[in-house]
Amino acid sequence: MSDAAPTAAPLTAGTLADVVALLAGHRLAVLTGAGVSTDSGIPDYRGPDSPPRTPMTFQQFVGDAAFRRHYWARNHVGWRHVHRTLPNAGHRALAALEHRGVVGGLITQNVDLLHEAAGSHHVIDLHGRYDRVVCLSCGTVVPRADLADRLDALNPGFVESVGTVGDVEIAPDADAVIERTSHFVVADCDVCGGMLKPDIVYFGETVPRERVERAYAMVDAGDALLVAGSSLTVQSGLRFVRHAAQTGKPVVIVNRGATRGDRHATLTLDAGTSPTLTALAESLPDLPHPA
Ligand SMILES: [Zn+2]
Repeated sequence: MSDAAPTAAPLTAGTLADVVALLAGHRLAVLTGAGVSTDSGIPDYRGPDSPPRTPMTFQQFVGDAAFRRHYWARNHVGWRHVHRTLPNAGHRALAALEHRGVVGGLITQNVDLLHEAAGSHHVIDLHGRYDRVVCLSCGTVVPRADLADRLDALNPGFVESVGTVGDVEIAPDADAVIERTSHFVVADCDVCGGMLKPDIVYFGETVPRERVERAYAMVDAGDALLVAGSSLTVQSGLRFVRHAAQTGKPVVIVNRGATRGDRHATLTLDAGTSPTLTALAESLPDLPHPA
């Protein structure tokens, strides 16, 4: 291990006052991760207190019918939980900052749509969105709610049989862990009969190029990059931190625990996102909206 021990505070560690002083007057691009949604009841499986968990890969999903059946069964329960989840103070603070011209755009690694629910408009859902399903053969996109009706018809009583969502483990990708799924019937594309997949970027998949380019442009359009609630474990988010640092922009990372992006940061703040973003919304001055 050449890196410093994870318990050591990074050299860039600062206070909330430092963050306010650095960001005041800057138009922000924001990158958010699972940490901003934990206060809405969606667990962060990469957070410092999380149990180890092996994420499903795209190859498992497409290559193993039993695995896919198990996945859809769990998703069919977990999806309902995300559907009922409400934005928290952190989401609301970012939406308020956008309305006041401070946040120019927001890139999220979350698929829960809580930024949109809170009122943010300039959002790139980098890893997809839980409320859509895509056909891997013909590309048809259908609302998850429509698929839910089909799955309910194919699996009468299934959701009721697994109990309330309080009884099952809910993961950030709308996955809920259920043991008995061997009888679950999966739905195929009703246009072409192809394989359906949640419109979510899994491990082993790449983010569509066009979406990545839009995200880079969003970072370029800002004066500084604020990362909130991401440990930046995967390259798909880390690259924007690197890019901002390489182009000379201040980078602030607010997260509980160390992140892979700390070495690129101007300032890091080891703190929860809901109180921190709320404080930023109260402290950062308005900016004129871009033309
Ligand atoms: Zn199809």
